[in-house]
Amino acid sequence: MPQPPILKVSEIFFSAAGEGGRQGEPTIFIRLAGCNLRCSFCDTKYAWKVGREMTIEEISARADKIKKKFRVDWVCLTGGEPLLQELKPLALKLRRAGFKIQVETNGTRPLNIKPDWLTVSPKPPDYRLTADCRRLADEVKLVVTRRLGLREIRRVRQALSGSVTLFLQPQSAASWSYKKAWQLYLQAARAGLCGVRLSCQLHKIYRIK
Ligand code: SF4
Repeated sequence: MPQPPILKVSEIFFSAAGEGGRQGEPTIFIRLAGCNLRCSFCDTKYAWKVGREMTIEEISARADKIKKKFRVDWVCLTGGEPLLQELKPLALKLRRAGFKIQVETNGTRPLNIKPDWLTVSPKPPDYRLTADCRRLADEVKLVVTRRLGLREIRRVRQALSGSVTLFLQPQSAASWSYKKAWQLYLQAARAGLCGVRLSCQLHKIYRIK
């Protein structure tokens, strides 16, 4: 008997989108387990663990249950790195249930679905982006780490079409990161880089998930 499609899941929950252009929108987050990077500043290290095996039916049933409680049109497939797993069967099921799909990726893996909204967050030290991600990103988030500089911002900016917004997102609630984000924002504006926006993580400010 064929195995049903199974995904390794870290958690599923409802919240407001905390980052980027969809910030504040009601969203069901499906956090897939596992990541191919090990960023020191990662705020979801718990998602590196193996996760719980769930069938597509189980995941979709959880999303439907949440939808019965909250008015929500969007599902965000995040991680960890969601593109380490085959997302097509889940995306199909969620779309049939009427959801729009956002994917949040670190940009190192080829896309295995075409989401309605693609968020790419390339990571240091090399800020690598696959050709798919360069071509299809709707937005790019750069975490303002101690190492991020105008050179890296310029490099990422040049890899993307001018219509893609590039968000400068403080690494944490730490004041140095907010100060640095502002300084980089000023430098990017002086350098004439287009589509650079100052940003923040709403869920950290509100202290919600
Ligand atoms: S890519 Fe994202 S999930 Fe993976 S280690 Fe880095 S910050 Fe964490």
